[in-house]
Amino acid sequence: MIDLIENGFDVISVDNLSRGSLRMLQGVEKVVGRPVKNYRVDLCNLEDTEAVFIENPDLIGVIHFAAYKSVPESVKEPLKYFRNNLNSLVNILQCAQEYDVNNFVFSSSCSVYGNAKKLPVDETASLAEPESPYARTKQMGEAICSDFSRQNKRFQATLLRYFNPVGAHPSSLLGELQETPENLVPVITQTAIGKRKEMQIFGNDYPTRDGSCIRDYIHVMDIANAHTRALQYLIKGLNKENCEVFNLGSGNGVSVLELIAAFEKISGQKLNYKVGPRRPGDVVQVYANNNKAETKLGWHAKYNLEQMMETAWNWELALKHESEKVKLN
Ligand code: UDP
Repeated sequence: MIDLIENGFDVISVDNLSRGSLRMLQGVEKVVGRPVKNYRVDLCNLEDTEAVFIENPDLIGVIHFAAYKSVPESVKEPLKYFRNNLNSLVNILQCAQEYDVNNFVFSSSCSVYGNAKKLPVDETASLAEPESPYARTKQMGEAICSDFSRQNKRFQATLLRYFNPVGAHPSSLLGELQETPENLVPVITQTAIGKRKEMQIFGNDYPTRDGSCIRDYIHVMDIANAHTRALQYLIKGLNKENCEVFNLGSGNGVSVLELIAAFEKISGQKLNYKVGPRRPGDVVQVYANNNKAETKLGWHAKYNLEQMMETAWNWELALKHESEKVKLN
């Protein structure tokens, strides 16, 4: 939202806050220096979703982020993932069609590649059997966008395959806010700050350089900027096809152990971790070939691994300072 606003877009948010929080919107407002409007609407409810389109007849595009994103949760509760991630998409596309809003950006994920045969993986790789229901919702979401755009020639979409988004806004006014996150970086920062006693590394017997899984971590600020560029790309009509896929990754594969080492270095904290069993649904390794986003969208990942860890850590520290202030009052 911040990146869009800083690039001249007028933005409204539609978020039922089931996983987000008003605090993030307040953070956005502080950074951009003006109010932003949120409709507290569940996109799985078609009528409520339509009401947003009716109230905003001048929409130029939609960025669809609304999805649950935890691999282990999706393994435990697959129907919850199919219901939320797919119904919201179908409703939004239906509204886009009815109200003639034709520029669409979809949040996809590198999990669609499964255990890719060739690394770094590029967008032409055929998609393997997904390793989790979450990954399947992203494969299905892409297929839905693709079928829909084939049928509706005015409609154009970019599907952005995020690798592993991490880090926080450099102001420390916005970041990940979950009580019990399951993603690696917030688990690391929560362990370091003492919210958790220890953390586990899920498997050190993978066929990788140090036995832990390899991922491509990418700063949320870089991810945000790619959305602005993707929207501009569509609005300017620079796309040759009306449904195009882009990898959003740094291009670097980093193991869990390497990430922990990077965190320990920038934070000066020794992390209390132990090695546990593999986590169901995890792929062994994946990292991006990001040439397409660089050439076509003019996008470059600007933040390095240290900056990813540093902003994530600063965010955790900011949360701590805040809760201490609340206690004092
Ligand atoms: N991971 C871990 N311990 C944790 C959380 C994650 O070892 O407490 C590992 C996980 O097995 C995976 C990597 O960290 O190899 C990234 O996991 P995350 O959930 O952040 O993202 P994913 O790649 O599943 O989307």
